[in-house]
Amino acid sequence: MAQSPPPPLEGRVLSTLNEDGTRHKIRPRLVKGRFLRWRQILGYTLIAIFAVLPFIEINGRPFFLLNIPERKFFVFGGAFLATDTVVLMLFMVAIVIGIFLLTALWGRVWCGWACPQTIYMELIYRPIERLFEGTPTHQRRMDREGGGIRRMLKNATFFLVSFFFANIFVAYFIGGKTVVAAMTGSPSDHLTAFVTVLLVTVLMFIDFAWFREQTCIVACPYGRLQAVLLDRNSVIVGYDYNRGEPRARYRDRKRAEKAGEQTDFGDCVDCDLCVKCCPTGIDIRQGLQMECIGCTQCIDACDSVMDGFKKPRGLIRYTSSSELGGAKKKLLRARTVAYPALLFGLVSLLVFAIGQKADADIILLRGRGEPYKLIENKVSNHIRLKVVNRGSADEEYKITLAENPSKTKLIIPTNPLPVKEGKPAIATVFAMTPRKAFKDGQCIIKVKVSATKSKFVKVVAFKLLGPKAAQ
Ligand code: SF4
Ligand code: SF4
Repeated sequence: MAQSPPPPLEGRVLSTLNEDGTRHKIRPRLVKGRFLRWRQILGYTLIAIFAVLPFIEINGRPFFLLNIPERKFFVFGGAFLATDTVVLMLFMVAIVIGIFLLTALWGRVWCGWACPQTIYMELIYRPIERLFEGTPTHQRRMDREGGGIRRMLKNATFFLVSFFFANIFVAYFIGGKTVVAAMTGSPSDHLTAFVTVLLVTVLMFIDFAWFREQTCIVACPYGRLQAVLLDRNSVIVGYDYNRGEPRARYRDRKRAEKAGEQTDFGDCVDCDLCVKCCPTGIDIRQGLQMECIGCTQCIDACDSVMDGFKKPRGLIRYTSSSELGGAKKKLLRARTVAYPALLFGLVSLLVFAIGQKADADIILLRGRGEPYKLIENKVSNHIRLKVVNRGSADEEYKITLAENPSKTKLIIPTNPLPVKEGKPAIATVFAMTPRKAFKDGQCIIKVKVSATKSKFVKVVAFKLLGPKAAQ
C-alpha cells in the first residue's frame, strides 16, 4: 500500500534556524558519487567558460559585453543597442518562458547543476573551507572554540578568490581589456572600475563566507516560485517512502530480529547521511521542500549506504511526486505543451527581428518649429536625419537623393556624416523643393544613405510638407 511522507518535524520553521531564532550553521559532509562527478565536470566547465567569455574578441569586437553606461551590448558576437527594445523584450520573455518550461520538466535542475551560487559554493569555496578547516566536525569545533589562524587564512583565500571572480564579473560590463588595464595600472586612473571590483569582491565574500544557503532559501526569487512552477509530474529529487518506510537503524533491526518482533522494515536504515550532506540542511525524507535545490548530494549519499547494505540504489533518486504516490508519470501536460509552443513562437520572432537588423539604423524626423518655409518659389523642409552606427568601426555616411523627379536639392552642412562605432549622430538636412512639385500639400522624396567604408546603403522615403495650392 502506498504510504505518505512523514510529517514535518514539530516546531521547525527553517533548517537554518535554531529554536531560539539564532542561525543554525550548515556544515555539510562531502559524499562522493556518480552525480558529484558529473556536477564537477559540468560545474568546472561552466566556470572556465565564464572566466574566458569577456576576454574573447572576434574581428576586433567583444564576443560578450553588456556595457550599460555606454548602452552597447554584444551578445555572442552580435551588436545590440539600447534602442533594440523589441529584440530585448523578446529575449527577456523567451528566457522567462524557457525557465518555466525547464522547471515544469526537470524541477530545480538549474539550481543544482548550473546556478553560480551552487557551483561556486560547492566547487570552489567549500573545498577551500575543507582544506583549511577539515571535516564538518572540525568546523563545528572551530565555531564553538574559535578558528584561529586557519580560519583567518581561509577567509583571506576566500577574499582573494572573490577578488579574482569579481574582476571577471565586472569585465562583462566594462570589457576584459579595461579590467586588465585597471588592474595592472594605477587605481586612480580607473577609479570607477577599481571601486566596482572591490564592491563586488566584498559582496561575493559576504555571500560565500557568511550568507551561503540563505541566498537560495530566503533571497532567490526563483526559489520562492517553485510552488507554482512545479507540478506533480515535474522531476524532483525524492525519497521513495514506500520503499524506505518504516525506517529503522541497523542495530534496532537486529534487536527486533532476535526478539522475534516486527521485521518488515523498509530499506531506510535511518543513518541520516542524506541529512548530514545536504547543503541546505533539510531532511529529504520529509517530502518535497522549498529549500531543496536539487543538488543530488543526498542521492549519492543514500546510494553509497544502499551499496553497503547490498540493496538496490535509488531509495533517493530523480523521480516525481506522482511516481512516488504510485501513479504513472505524465510527460504531456497543459504546461509542457503550452510553454514549448510559446517558446517556439518567441524564438522565431527573435530570430526574425535579429535578421532584420542592418549595420546602421536610419531614422528621418521632421525638424522642430514650423513645418515648412516658403523661400521665393521654393519650399524649404527642415529634416533631422539620425544615423545609428551598429557596425564594428567608425563610419561616414553620405546623404543623397535616390530618385529626384521633384527636383529637390538637399543642403547638408556635414556630409558625409561621421558616426562613431555603436553611437548615434544627427545630420541637419534642408530639402529645397520647387513649389509646383507639391500635390495636396505633400511631396515624397527618397533619401539615400550610403556608408563610405562598408557596403551599407539604405533608401528611406520621406514626406515633405508644402502649401496645399500651387498659387
Ligand atoms: S535534499 Fe538532497 S537534493 Fe535537496 S538540497 Fe538537500 S542534498 Fe540537495
Ligand atoms: S541516506 Fe538513505 S538510508 Fe540513510 S537515512 Fe537517508 S534515506 Fe535513509
